[in-house]
Amino acid sequence: MAFYVFDFKIYYKQNFYIMPGFELFGDEEKKEINDVLETGIMFRFNHDEVRNNVWKARDLEQEVKNFTGAGYAHAVSSGSTAVACVMAGAGLGYGDEVIVTPFTYLATVEAILFAGALPVFAEIDETLCLSAEGIRSAITPRTKAVMLVHMCGAAADMDAITEVCEEHNLILVEDAGQALGASYKGTHVGLFGKAGAYSFDFFKITTAGEGGVFVTNDENTYKIADSFSDHGHDHVGANRGMEQHPVLGFNYRISELHAAVGLAQMRKVAQVRSQSLKNKKIIKDILSTIEGVSFRRMPDPEGDSGTFLNFFLKDTATAQKVMAQFAEDGVGGNNYWYTNMYHFINQWDHVHELKAAYKLPIHELGAPQDYKNLDLPKSQEVVGKLISLGIRCTWTDEEAKEQGEKMAESIKKVLA
Ligand SMILES: *Cc1c(COP(=O)(O)O)cnc(C)c1O
Repeated sequence: MAFYVFDFKIYYKQNFYIMPGFELFGDEEKKEINDVLETGIMFRFNHDEVRNNVWKARDLEQEVKNFTGAGYAHAVSSGSTAVACVMAGAGLGYGDEVIVTPFTYLATVEAILFAGALPVFAEIDETLCLSAEGIRSAITPRTKAVMLVHMCGAAADMDAITEVCEEHNLILVEDAGQALGASYKGTHVGLFGKAGAYSFDFFKITTAGEGGVFVTNDENTYKIADSFSDHGHDHVGANRGMEQHPVLGFNYRISELHAAVGLAQMRKVAQVRSQSLKNKKIIKDILSTIEGVSFRRMPDPEGDSGTFLNFFLKDTATAQKVMAQFAEDGVGGNNYWYTNMYHFINQWDHVHELKAAYKLPIHELGAPQDYKNLDLPKSQEVVGKLISLGIRCTWTDEEAKEQGEKMAESIKKVLA
């Protein structure tokens, strides 16, 4: 039975974009952590004689492979470092133009910049992800790759996007940081391109406290990213100090303690997903009756992870009025990304100005676009009119209904 270290229902009254993993934090996580504490081996590699066959990072990776069908999975210290490993594994770096969305958690863009590559921002549409047309119109002779972000818990329009990438010979890589559990026509997000990344931070469908996993079906991509995540170590043999180092890397390792939590959480994803989908449907059915509310376009509704109910008002002004009404009426759980400092490009002044702690290739090469004056009217429209409700997997039917009815009441006051 799950226990809660804090009363998340009180906590949740504030507007948090938190996804459900932490709601089912309990005895299972404690057990996995205790396995590690009993051996004292918090390092994920080696120490075979003394670790009593406890390998939490490996078990987490196996669990991710079983769940997603990935050929290879490697756990690292965060979703951000998983995206960095995806860049490395795909060989993306100095001067490569990488098409990316203006609507994502900032880490996607940071990973591109720190790899030495050049982000090119393209249009999203009502799927909340890059559209095939958006990608097509951002292509230049220097475009090397598309970093596709599956935003807010569901997959992008994969048939159309795969087609553009193939047509233009672009490398597809995926940041599925907030879409673990989502799929498109039976394939899990993160597995459409060369490599993909999931996040296990505190705000995602599963949490390790901090952690991430990158996945790929390509052995060579896996090997390079694996070495990159650990100072080049090829992880062959039992003598760490004598391993080969095929490429330079850094320390992006996950600890066994974090992996232990991630492992217990990973085993709950299917349960979190089905409970979330049930609650999401209850609320969506209520909001569907309101004229003036529409919903995120989902290219494969069957593959939804259920973590967010994303809905649109007529325009930005109306969405902002609804958010103000929610605040006035004490209706929690809704996110407004348009003004969020970390999820939408309008507030990324450090990106606009390329303010970094040290000189990056983009400073020398020049940005491929004027980041201060981007022309992305469709993205502005879509994110402006969007509100995202974070779905709780622990709601009872009655609680979900109450949440939906309260929201409907506030929305109707604004639309009246
Ligand atoms: C959360 C998130 C990340 C970063 O993951 P961390 O584990 O917090 O480093 C990257 N990309 C997306 C789309 C995310 O939502």
